[in-house]
Amino acid sequence: VKKKLLVVANWKLNPPTLKEAHALLKNTKRALPRARSADVIICPPLPFLFALAKGERSLAFGAQDVSAQIAGAYTGEVSATMLKSVGASYAIIGHSERRALGESDAEVSKKLRIALDEKITPILCVGELERDEQGSHLAVLADQLTNSLASVLRGEIAKIIIAYEPVWAIGRRAEDALDAHGVHGTVIFIRKILSDRYGREYAEKVRILYGGSVEPGNVHALVRESGVSGFLVGHASLLPASFAEIIRASAGHA
Ligand code: PEP
Repeated sequence: VKKKLLVVANWKLNPPTLKEAHALLKNTKRALPRARSADVIICPPLPFLFALAKGERSLAFGAQDVSAQIAGAYTGEVSATMLKSVGASYAIIGHSERRALGESDAEVSKKLRIALDEKITPILCVGELERDEQGSHLAVLADQLTNSLASVLRGEIAKIIIAYEPVWAIGRRAEDALDAHGVHGTVIFIRKILSDRYGREYAEKVRILYGGSVEPGNVHALVRESGVSGFLVGHASLLPASFAEIIRASAGHA
């Protein structure tokens, strides 16, 4: 049996107010198919997480980042323990938009450790900035994976979700993103890296998502041909009808 696909909504810095966040969640839920055979995780901005997650049973919630610190004199930080206590069971870690602000693989590794210790499921993002004909993106990916996973032990690797997000394909239109064939090849490569490090038996259990302009226009081919375990969805997650179509495609209902 094929495992359920997982679809993660990354709302990023949207919407501007709690009122609009409630409305977006409500409209999203209304648009979703009733009997869902895909798992859905919503990652709203932090100030909205508690209010949205409270009493909500049909969806899971995640944070868009987690602090590399546990407690103490760290002004402005939000710890994994805090996130967990307000309803986050997942956390995106190492998103390219955080890496662009200077986050290193070493910090990502530290954050993964902290999330695992707090029993928050990490969604580790990796992805190359650009592709060339020589396939140099594969070396970039191998390095990112090896260094970001430095703190993760063999027995823990299956608890981590990996989101492969080629940075050049984020925030584009479906037709400018990576096609299903390209995703498929890269997913095999990522699994090979995991397998070399952790052993095949462990590597096979890791869920690998694709992210980068997943939209109604490309999701069907991605579900059919890429071999991914689900999707990380940015801009299309702000449009309930589009997001619902991505869920329907992922659940095999479309
Ligand atoms: C993302 O940044 O995680 C993402 C997938 O964004 P988009 O879907 O907008 O490309």
